[in-house]
Amino acid sequence: MGQSHFRRISFDAEDTLNDLYRKLHTELGISADYGQASSLPFYPESTELVEVGPNLVGRMQSLTPIAAQAWRGMVRGGASEGIQLMIVSGYRSFDYQADLIRRKIAAGQVIDEILTVNAAPGFSQHHTGAAIDIASPGSRPLTEEFEISAAFSWLKENAATFGFSMTYPRDNAFGFIYEPWHWAHDSENRAETA
Ligand SMILES: [Zn+2]
Repeated sequence: MGQSHFRRISFDAEDTLNDLYRKLHTELGISADYGQASSLPFYPESTELVEVGPNLVGRMQSLTPIAAQAWRGMVRGGASEGIQLMIVSGYRSFDYQADLIRRKIAAGQVIDEILTVNAAPGFSQHHTGAAIDIASPGSRPLTEEFEISAAFSWLKENAATFGFSMTYPRDNAFGFIYEPWHWAHDSENRAETA
């Protein structure tokens, strides 16, 4: 998939953001050249968010207004064909992303292993508020099982109509695991900052 799909911002132009994520990276033991060495784009935190309802464990989720509207439309579209789409995770702050990683470190995982599953703070598409982890009844959330769900088949056929595409297909260039559950709204790459 093409890099042009993703936005990049100048590393020099965003000193405050850099300070924040670099501090987090140092704390988490992430190498200083993580952003430059990988092909991962830097994603600033979205400043405009609306709530779209709680996830499976009751935690309120937020998206950008545009992504939220598109998501609601897609949920309705699925429902009209008997497909139930549920949000597991929408917007995440740098801090929340760091927390996910902290918990895995505390549970004994090593950072390099964690970084194949969770992007370092500053590099998760969830910071944009336009990425959604999607689940559906019948398959365990955030597992490859989702690939054989009716919901996944439906998304492959219909998500583009609502402006959503899958970011991490098999053997993606970012070195992330295959994530059939992770979809992002196209508005994410229209908000070009640099
Ligand atoms: Zn995701």
